[in-house]
Amino acid sequence: MRKFAGYPIVVNYNLHTQELNEDEEERLHKAGRYEEERQLVIKSVTTSDADLGNNRFRQEMDKYEATICQCLRKIEGNPVGRMLLGLINKQTTVWIIPKMERPDFAITGPLKYEIQGDGSYARGEGRGDTVIEIAPEMSDDVLFHELVHAYRYSYNKFHPLSIFLQTVSPGPQQTQNQRSEEFLAHHMQNIYLSQANRTMALDYKWSSDATKKEIYDFLLDNFFALEALKYFLRHEYLAMLAAHSLSTDYNPFRDYKMLEAEYLKDDPTTTVPELGMGVGEHP
Ligand SMILES: [Zn+2]
Repeated sequence: MRKFAGYPIVVNYNLHTQELNEDEEERLHKAGRYEEERQLVIKSVTTSDADLGNNRFRQEMDKYEATICQCLRKIEGNPVGRMLLGLINKQTTVWIIPKMERPDFAITGPLKYEIQGDGSYARGEGRGDTVIEIAPEMSDDVLFHELVHAYRYSYNKFHPLSIFLQTVSPGPQQTQNQRSEEFLAHHMQNIYLSQANRTMALDYKWSSDATKKEIYDFLLDNFFALEALKYFLRHEYLAMLAAHSLSTDYNPFRDYKMLEAEYLKDDPTTTVPELGMGVGEHP
């Protein structure tokens, strides 16, 4: 178990502890004993495999924790990453642990998640301390993305709103619903990548490589995207700071006014409401 520098982040290798507790968690869940299940989950997240005795997992533990800390140092070396790390609520702890299943994607949730009580396995609601489950092979920008979620949870701001997005070109039009929290994390991730002159991705779900112009065109094709940018600029300190202090080439928060003007140029009588404030009429 390692604390990362001066940040409220603990990297904890607990893969075998997770495996040991898995069946019992499932048994408690099936029996509707959700509070006990949650207690066991919290214990599992905060227990190190070093406690399993005989130091038998020492090597893999050192390897995982060293790799994640290296990844965190890379994030700290990027001004956008350093800004985010410094903003995480220091009254809370971000636990980073290995992902047991599906190591090809990472996930973040609250440590003391709100119990749904209806048999649901959903653990995404809550605030305060957080858990990032991530495999050591994932790249630093993915961990950065998860840290955006952790930051939002740490201030009880993780409240996803639904946004409707579409691709217009190239190829046939596709549509989908997305969560505003993913929109924020994705575009912060792009700003982080832009800072290091690395390849960005069009969207959270449509994750093809894209240039700044392609992404701005995508945002201009999506009324909900503009609403979401406006919403975060008004309510999210991270977006405001990005707009005012980051000189990255890609920065839709800084460039929001320009994007909005471009969007409204054919009909200057309309306005873009912030997300959640619209009257339900989206051109
Ligand atoms: Zn995400």
